[in-house]
Amino acid sequence: MSDALALKDSNSDARCLIIGASHAGSQLAVNLRKNGWTGEIVLLGSEAQLPYHRPPLSKTVMAGSKTLDNILLRPEAMYASNDITLRLASDVASIMPEQKQVVLAGGETLTYDKLALCTGARPIKLPLGDGLDGVCYLRSYADVETIRQQLEGKQRAVVIGAGYIGLEAAAVMTQLGLQVTVLERADRVLQRVTGEQVSQYFTDLHRSHGVEIVCGAEVTGINGQHVVDSVHCADGSSYPADIVIVGIGVTPETRLAQDAGLRIENGVYVDEYCRTSDADIYAAGDCASYPDARYQRRVRLESVQNANDQARIAAINICGGNAVYQVTPWFWSDQFDIKLQSVGLSDGFDEAVLDGSLDPADAGGFVIQYLRAGRLIAADCVRRPKDFMALKAKL
Ligand code: NAP
Repeated sequence: MSDALALKDSNSDARCLIIGASHAGSQLAVNLRKNGWTGEIVLLGSEAQLPYHRPPLSKTVMAGSKTLDNILLRPEAMYASNDITLRLASDVASIMPEQKQVVLAGGETLTYDKLALCTGARPIKLPLGDGLDGVCYLRSYADVETIRQQLEGKQRAVVIGAGYIGLEAAAVMTQLGLQVTVLERADRVLQRVTGEQVSQYFTDLHRSHGVEIVCGAEVTGINGQHVVDSVHCADGSSYPADIVIVGIGVTPETRLAQDAGLRIENGVYVDEYCRTSDADIYAAGDCASYPDARYQRRVRLESVQNANDQARIAAINICGGNAVYQVTPWFWSDQFDIKLQSVGLSDGFDEAVLDGSLDPADAGGFVIQYLRAGRLIAADCVRRPKDFMALKAKL
């Protein structure tokens, strides 16, 4: 009899608590049932909404073409039919590993047999423009509702940070008719996630739609009286702004784990089985760093693919299995009519092989393969979905 089946017979009174009800948490809950967990499953989420897809927030939801109902991860009835207790708007205050208990913000205590941390990440805040109307961050559905209200009747937007959030928001606001300036601290856009050629492609794409892109910008002030009116940089430049969207990265949500004495290493430390430094506590998604055999280092990924795949592995192992997390990371971004599809991690490449054109007006698109010591480690594709699928399979 396999370990997983052995557990199936023995866990009917056991309770698995999952903290965090986004991509990883929801996936983990469903996969516990699939893998034979017969005990209680409690999924605790701090947001008020049913678990939803996050990628559309900075795309179609911000544009107004999709609402919460269109982006739910699963229908509400699915949780009940899988006997998953979904507790929304339930903040966890602390974890007590020795007692195997979790304390909710309201004081209620829940015991667990197995615990999964799917706490995600939160936006890094700029210590500027605090309390000013019109200064927005974008992580949750509630954030986008606020942004949509703030956008009404506005003409000039400043985006701080040219990562995925910043550039996707810039594209949407341009399409909504605003004049947009993007201020990026690094010397090129998307520098954390891709090579120079792709950065240049997206700079050209945005400029061709009228977005002003300023790199090397050190933002020193976000000003206004009650309502934001301008953004100021160290070189003396300033930009009028009716709305400011800050997308300068996220930080893994590790407070609960840290306070509980779990090992932290660029996120909640997990082994290849998604287990933390406590054998009964697992972690998955943006909050967890894991040992990656392919890249031979500890990796923490901020992506839907990682949240889903890691949660599947964690669920198998919570049910007594022995599955190792080893996948090829992949990502996508939609900006204007362009979809960037990326596979693998390109940092540390020593050769980039371009096939196609880096002119955004060229309908043929391109593929860039990133190699290290002659070995393919990653690729970026635009308008080449078949090549993307082939490279994903190859990696
Ligand atoms: P990000 O990808 O980490 O990019 C943040 C950018 O902001 C970096 O280029 C960074 O440059 C810059 N920056 C940092 N501090 C700055 C400052 N003070 N002034 C100006 N620029 C500054 O983060 P993000 O775009 O905020 O996205 C947040 C998370 O959501 C990420 O995990 C992202 O992957 C995820 N997300 C993904 C998608 C997608 O996959 N399509 C879409 C939306 C969001 P430095 O490197 O110089 O600091």
